[in-house]
Amino acid sequence: MQKGEFLYEGKAKRVYRTEDPTCYIVEYKDTATAFDGLKKEDLANKGVLNNNIAALFFAMLQNEGIPTHFVKKLSEREMLVRALQIIPVEVIVRNIVAGSLAKRLGLPEGAPLKSTVLEFNLKNDALHDPMLNQYHIQALELATARELARMEELALRVNELLRGFLEKRDIILVDFKLEFGRFGGEILLGDEISPDTCRFWDAGSGEKLDKDRFRRDLGGVTDAYAEVLRRLLEVK
Ligand code: UDP
Repeated sequence: MQKGEFLYEGKAKRVYRTEDPTCYIVEYKDTATAFDGLKKEDLANKGVLNNNIAALFFAMLQNEGIPTHFVKKLSEREMLVRALQIIPVEVIVRNIVAGSLAKRLGLPEGAPLKSTVLEFNLKNDALHDPMLNQYHIQALELATARELARMEELALRVNELLRGFLEKRDIILVDFKLEFGRFGGEILLGDEISPDTCRFWDAGSGEKLDKDRFRRDLGGVTDAYAEVLRRLLEVK
């Protein structure tokens, strides 16, 4: 599949058209960003690691019946995906208190949650991705009630599948962000699933294996991503 017209550049990926109008090529960049793009750095090989990690997660989820935009890995940095109409709502799933939830509610990071928490954020850096509830989403016509119910159902199922898959590899799934889009009347899981969009803690040591290493200047960012990929490739 040949790269066609350059379509869009995000903080971590570039998107290109292909000769097939129903498919795009996503190219993963080495750029790491945090705090709505205020902190920015190139980390050699990060794009390759995230493309490989996301491809493995998408393939696993697809096998388990989750409809995703993933078609196939094309190269070390590129994957072929379905051309979605992205719904501009980030769906955050949380199993353990961390990050903005710890700050917002004054809770200690690492506190377990009695049940899974779902949050919605508007995808808008200029507004710092403000939190939304179901009423906002419908009133602003970001998604219909039916689409929202499907996104919630899929997000919770993805959480169960990822949690089990990672637990076998001694990784705790703390929280993560998903994006969805419309394709042929269906809702598909889009964007990426990687250490850029999830919090992964080593089950033994609690060591962070995700973008918090970059956000918090802990060092060893790509080493941690490589460790995640190594564990995902282990046959379990
Ligand atoms: N997240 C993301 N993109 C965003 C916001 C959050 O991928 O724009 C992910 C983040 O990596 C974490 C989870 O969603 O795994 C929850 O993030 P949180 O709300 O704690 O925000 P943050 O700590 O990123 O400010």
